[in-house]
Amino acid sequence: MTAETVDSASPEDTGPRPEPDPEPDPEPAAVRRDLAVREAVRQGLVGPDEGDEPLVCLLDTAGIRDSAAALTAAFAAALPPGTPVLHTFAVKACPLVPVLRLLAAAGLGCEVASAGELALARAAGVGQGRTVLDSPAKTTAELREALALGIAVNADNRQELERIDALIAADPGPVRSPIGLRINPQTGAGAIDALSTATATSKFGFALRDEGARAWLVRACVERPWLTRLHTHSGSQGVPLPLIARGVRAVHELAEEVNAAVGRRRIDTIDIGGGLPVNFASDAATPSYADYVAALRTAAPALFDGSYGLVTEFGRSLTAKHGLVIARVEYAKTTGGRPVALTHAGVQLATRTVYAPAVWPVRILAYDGRGVPKEGAPLAQDVAGPACFAGDLLAEARPLPPLDAGDLIAVPDTGAYFFTAHYGYNSLPRPAVHGFAVEGGAVRFALARPAQSVPALVEEAGGAHRDALL
Ligand SMILES: *Cc1c(COP(=O)(O)O)cnc(C)c1O
Repeated sequence: MTAETVDSASPEDTGPRPEPDPEPDPEPAAVRRDLAVREAVRQGLVGPDEGDEPLVCLLDTAGIRDSAAALTAAFAAALPPGTPVLHTFAVKACPLVPVLRLLAAAGLGCEVASAGELALARAAGVGQGRTVLDSPAKTTAELREALALGIAVNADNRQELERIDALIAADPGPVRSPIGLRINPQTGAGAIDALSTATATSKFGFALRDEGARAWLVRACVERPWLTRLHTHSGSQGVPLPLIARGVRAVHELAEEVNAAVGRRRIDTIDIGGGLPVNFASDAATPSYADYVAALRTAAPALFDGSYGLVTEFGRSLTAKHGLVIARVEYAKTTGGRPVALTHAGVQLATRTVYAPAVWPVRILAYDGRGVPKEGAPLAQDVAGPACFAGDLLAEARPLPPLDAGDLIAVPDTGAYFFTAHYGYNSLPRPAVHGFAVEGGAVRFALARPAQSVPALVEEAGGAHRDALL
């Protein structure tokens, strides 16, 4: 029963320590973006001509730092000093080791949901005391590894809890991992069905409102002295803040009930997940973390009385606004009276937008071949990707300055779940990702992920096994 407090650094934790906030960047994000596009062309990261790269992805590192600082500040302002808080980054939102490292330097740990994500967190130097393992389908081997490393685990269901029981019974040593139960508060869906985690029939977690569930959960906690956490992830894109907050309140109420049944503070930490929605319609970073904390304080004021440690697992809201895709317009044509720009950015980078355009609309910005914003009376145009199916469109009939071959388009707000969730259609390679920082008007780029090479693509496609099926 030696579950560590949430903010303790483990001995193997080689991650960078939080450092004071850097000087605030004087340039607003939109100004930094325009500078970055122009400089990306000038420095040859992307360009209009044969021989230039047709596609590149950028991450605004100052923006990511600002978001991490806003998250930390919003919770710190609401909690009594000394309350243990661990903010983790949901790795699936932007699974790049240098990004995890940047966020670790800003004081964040990692929320992981696969062996691959755990390996990325470890490669970034994020220690086990700052890592949380969630996944609805953890294998026994994954659970065994997590328990051996002392990584926090949130069990999703009864069968997983029985596996954890067996692993703990088989190991006479103390339980080093903080272990929790993922609760589905069944508070209802948001605007996007596929992303609503808290519906009555969601695949995630222990249902709270099913017949007999509550009593079963309280008993399960009472019987297991090493169960010290409750977890919920009740928000996501499309879920209004009061609805997310209702889910968190339900889990806080359950924690109080467990602790009353045990007769002391057995549940010492509540993991409230992530799920803050992102505004894809403009540069405004709304809703803010402060808005979310305010909604939580309204719904569950006792969550902030310092009697529970908190863990958070934000993903999209930390990086989405800070990612940018820049792609060349290879051709421009008119079909059936509709102007169409054929670009290099499509379904491989914006999979959700292409398959569910009404749910995941993206902004498109027009630049000329030198990376200067295009002027000109807006004209309704389709912006198409390079993939060989008709629906590979980033936007339909979008009013934009007329696009021509050799222009560039940029797609903002793509720093989470877009270019780092690559879709391998048509064997389109993963493009390079560069971080950028603006210092005194100069733009400095740093390669965060190289472009996938054609030989690497062939290898991934079984190139070393050419004759295997003969
Ligand atoms: C995806 C996920 C998150 C992060 O969600 P965002 O909407 O990106 O903030 C957090 N926790 C769990 C368990 C998740 O599955």
